[in-house]
Amino acid sequence: TVVVLGSVNMDLVTTTEIRPTPGETVLGSGFATVSGGKGANQAIAAARSGARVRFLGAIGDDAFGATLRSTLADAGVDTTLLRVFDGPSGVATIVVDATGENSIIVVPGANGHVRDLTAEELAAIAEADLLLCQLEIPIETVTAAARHARASGTIVALNPSPVQPLPAELWAAVDLAIVNSLEYEQYSTELAHLAHVVRTLGGDGAAYYGADETELPVSALAVEVVDTTGAGDAFTGALVATWTRGPAFAVNWANTAGAVATTILGASSSIPDHTQIAARLPT
Ligand code: ADP
Repeated sequence: TVVVLGSVNMDLVTTTEIRPTPGETVLGSGFATVSGGKGANQAIAAARSGARVRFLGAIGDDAFGATLRSTLADAGVDTTLLRVFDGPSGVATIVVDATGENSIIVVPGANGHVRDLTAEELAAIAEADLLLCQLEIPIETVTAAARHARASGTIVALNPSPVQPLPAELWAAVDLAIVNSLEYEQYSTELAHLAHVVRTLGGDGAAYYGADETELPVSALAVEVVDTTGAGDAFTGALVATWTRGPAFAVNWANTAGAVATTILGASSSIPDHTQIAARLPT
């Protein structure tokens, strides 16, 4: 079992010719609500890769919360650990103009209240094979969960995104870090002490760096790229879902999942399933 501890948001995506200036009102051309949050997206990706996944995070007691819960459940993610807070679910208001430029406001809402892990939550982490975290919920909670996992023999995977300063106790509990090129640069000092680092390289594929200088580069799949949003989350979920099969298999599997995700528009909607990944997996 994989426990994913992280964020779940509703993305409110408005498309408009020109973004309004302060005080101005414009007519937009489109609107969509899309489930998101790195935690939820990676949980969905891991479940679609075939892992048993439990999501640990929080929604608000609003209509978005109910939709977010069913999106996770429909993807096969166990939501029995999902907390419900009085107040709003996390939302990201995204305005995209005709040139493709966007402005985004993220309100963490319930995600900001994931604190003080309960006995049931700690037990779920201890029983899991692997704990996966990102940095879109309070860092103290991520640190406490990671330390508990490490002490219980559960593998700790961290996708340290968005980049921010992290306590040394968190890094000390991490077994596997999954980073993009920016994160690889920003956390270079901390990553140097880890036994397992997986770096995503966009159109150049990915690489695994193990202890004793092992380096395993994997080329990107040649695909027709439509939208790279969510490719990183698809990669990370697919990687942790297959991590017990060894780094070589897992990175190849994740690299295939990431590539397939770029061929479909959207973030959570573009996450490929086991069959789609297996069909494109290089042998
Ligand atoms: P992020 O979006 O988090 O910065 P990357 O851009 O590194 O992540 O992409 C994550 C993964 O998605 C890559 O490691 C690769 O497997 C896949 N991917 C991304 N862009 C492409 C592309 N142009 N062609 C093929 N695969 C891609």
